Amino acid sequence: MDPILVVVLVVLAVVLIGAAAFVTTRSTRGEALEAPPEVPEVTEAPLEGTVIEETLLEERVVEEAPPGAEATLVEEPALEAPAPPEPVVEEPVVEEAPLARPSFRDRLSKARSTLSGYVGTVLSRSDISDESYDELEEALIRADVGIGPTQQLLDDVRARVKEQKLTTTVELIDAVKAEMKARLAGPVELRRADTAPTIWLFVGVNGVGKTTTIGKVGRRLADGGDTVVMAAGDTFRAAAAEQLGTWAERCGATLIRGAEGGDPSSVIFDAVESAAARGADVVLADTAGRLHTKSNLMDELAKVRRVADKGAGTVTEVLLVLDATTGQNGLQQARIFAESTDVTGVVLTKLDGSAKGGIVFAIRAELDLPVKLVGLGETAADLVDFDADEFVDALFAEA
Ligand code: GDP
Repeated sequence: MDPILVVVLVVLAVVLIGAAAFVTTRSTRGEALEAPPEVPEVTEAPLEGTVIEETLLEERVVEEAPPGAEATLVEEPALEAPAPPEPVVEEPVVEEAPLARPSFRDRLSKARSTLSGYVGTVLSRSDISDESYDELEEALIRADVGIGPTQQLLDDVRARVKEQKLTTTVELIDAVKAEMKARLAGPVELRRADTAPTIWLFVGVNGVGKTTTIGKVGRRLADGGDTVVMAAGDTFRAAAAEQLGTWAERCGATLIRGAEGGDPSSVIFDAVESAAARGADVVLADTAGRLHTKSNLMDELAKVRRVADKGAGTVTEVLLVLDATTGQNGLQQARIFAESTDVTGVVLTKLDGSAKGGIVFAIRAELDLPVKLVGLGETAADLVDFDADEFVDALFAEA
């Protein structure tokens, strides 16, 4: 064969093979590009959804945290966990409503009915006589005023009747009321420290209503814009701290509690430190009411007071809580507490119950302690400043 022809044939063959190879490669690549993608771009969609859920979860936790409580997001379940359960804190909706002040007149029904029969008998005669004074004496003693304070009161009434030349029994009753009001008058405001935190200690035996009173005072302070720390100083009863915790949650206060049976003074000290660190205005400190002997009580209260005053705050009130339904027994308790610590005032609870009310005079006359606050029921609204005029008018109002 002609060598030139051979070369031409070889070149042609090479060109043909190359062209065939190029076409095969193109067609393979084309199939690959046109095939539906196995992994769609939505791969990232579930991730985005999770992030949104997380955001919702965070928002919900913050909303559900009770006022004042710290939101503990770090302790929340992992992202795949279901939505958190309904709020743990069961609060009566009524607590959120503005507090409506109850009146002495409405709540002192028992006290009123104790006096009203006698007052009616006195008023049934027009002129003042010895009998009028006898009936008044019996009425006041039955109403828990106590024998000594009753006699002092009636002596002053006799002097007023003579001096003002009063003759009718209506005037006599007015004179009794005027004497009572004069005896009970005085400031009831709870004092504040010059520099926060102010510390108010609550003392009294078990069951008189200390914890409830602290809760009510806390609510009142919180409504007025104060920041409150509550100290669960009754370390003998775990239930007392729980109960105080419930009140603290309701009014957005911080609760400081210690180990059961621990030292009440150190709990109160910690509460004061915590209040100072947070810039809180008032520390409301509960104390234990179950102390076996008087010297035990005196030592404990003296220590609590000393330690409470040691830190950043100042104790401006030591409030003795007394159950009005215990009548003259309450007075005996008051004596012991007044000897144990510098009591600055009395909170008289349960005046709405079977209390006869006269204990207010006995406390003033025998211990010279002012009743500053009065409990007229179990809810947050049922705490009122003691108002001597309103109280006496309510005692003498017609049943
Ligand atoms: P504490 O042991 O001194 O702390 O007493 P608590 O605060 O636990 O109160 C004892 C009981 O008295 C509770 O059932 C309270 O609801 C009730 N209580 C407290 N204050 C009043 C009040 O002013 N009126 C009435 N009716 N009950 C009250």
